[in-house]
Amino acid sequence: MDEATFAEWSLKAAEWGAAYRASLRDRPVRAQTEPGDIGAQIPASPPQTGESMEAIFADFEKIVLPGMTHWQHPRFFAYFPANSAPVSVVAEYLVTAMAAQCMLWQTSPAATELETKVLDWLRQAIGLPDGFSGVIQDSASSATLSAVLVMRERALNWNGNKAGLAAGPKLRIYASDQVHTSIDRAIWVSGIGEANLVRIPVSGENRGMNHEALETAIIADKVNGYLPAGVIACTGGTSVGACDDISDVVRIAHARGLYVHVDAAWAGSAMICEEFRHLWAGVEEADSVVLNPHKWLGAQFDCSAHFIRNPEDLVRTLAIHPEFLKTHGRDGIINYSEWTIPLGRRFRALKLWFLLRFHGLDGLKSMIRNHVAWAGKVAEQLSKDPNFEIVTKPMLSLFSFRHLGAADLDAHNLALVKAINDDGRIYLTQTRVDGRVAIRFQAGQFGMTEDDANFALRVITELAQEWNR
Ligand code: PLP
Repeated sequence: MDEATFAEWSLKAAEWGAAYRASLRDRPVRAQTEPGDIGAQIPASPPQTGESMEAIFADFEKIVLPGMTHWQHPRFFAYFPANSAPVSVVAEYLVTAMAAQCMLWQTSPAATELETKVLDWLRQAIGLPDGFSGVIQDSASSATLSAVLVMRERALNWNGNKAGLAAGPKLRIYASDQVHTSIDRAIWVSGIGEANLVRIPVSGENRGMNHEALETAIIADKVNGYLPAGVIACTGGTSVGACDDISDVVRIAHARGLYVHVDAAWAGSAMICEEFRHLWAGVEEADSVVLNPHKWLGAQFDCSAHFIRNPEDLVRTLAIHPEFLKTHGRDGIINYSEWTIPLGRRFRALKLWFLLRFHGLDGLKSMIRNHVAWAGKVAEQLSKDPNFEIVTKPMLSLFSFRHLGAADLDAHNLALVKAINDDGRIYLTQTRVDGRVAIRFQAGQFGMTEDDANFALRVITELAQEWNR
């Protein structure tokens, strides 16, 4: 592709992107295809000779687009959002064009130095003290895995990477059953083993770990010859937004030398608003915290901010220094690949920089406050309707509900979610609360308005009524 053609198609792609965003309200939110529909349209073998861009682009629109679920749709109320503010898309265009691999400072000093600065902006914005240093990970899953590896190495006196786990004592990690499955996977991958992830029962409206149970479990494990290594707390669990009492967790864990990682992948973005910070009070004493600006803040996926009180622990756990990666004569510089599991790194700080500058903290705060307020109003309206029950009250902009009036409420609500998503005007997902099906509603899409929230309420009540007939 020559430069003129590259420019032509880049412009087309940008124009297409803008028109696509403008058309979203007219599209079904969730892809309306059946398994295999898209794959069946793709030839089994690659072409022997090159094809025209016109043909490739036409197939993109004809084959690929119908198979997309539109995560930037303003009526996306499923899962958690993966927000991508238009300004962060622009930054990604630039990053894509430069296509730098930013593993070391010298492989793009601007990427490293901007990452340091922008993460420090974010640290200030969410109210973490200046003892924390930040790094951008590809996902919260990777940040949590890194934190679990640090827990492992600290507990094994920095010998686990060398000696392996077979000869050592059994490590223990503690978490509630409200944490995301990325925690389970970190325990598997780190070699600690699921049997050594101790589930602490939750209590209270926030479904936080019962701190007496946590303390008792750690003490009992020590007596029984296990090696307690760390606690993973959550602020805003995936199912219904559970929040552990971080102060209690840190107090109990630190008194016994355990490392504390806080997973605030979704809710962490809301901490730019001072009034929500009570949900993670005590976080300033944690050892490691992750939040995903690619979820709620508007930085295009992937952008996971990992803050650590002692980055030396992370580097000691993850860094290897072969000669070909050394940066001679540049002491004191940061090579962020030593802070993460993959060596290769995309330039992820640019989109965060563009986002924070274009919207300012005030703009982002009002977006989050609006989402919380609008979700609260939808929950309030549903709570007044005798055909619905609110299962869990709003935690920030997430609540869960159930439609009543059927003998088998689980099957009925699963069928209702399917009917809503097949209808396509909005998108919702389900969860289980205390073993029973509930429908989740979260408001968090970057471009949504209060009308979209009201629209969702109308669709839910309308389809539930039809379902009852
Ligand atoms: N933690 C929580 C609370 C989540 O809700 C999720 C995903 O939704 C994750 C972690 C995993 O995030 P990622 O996809 O960035 O690994």
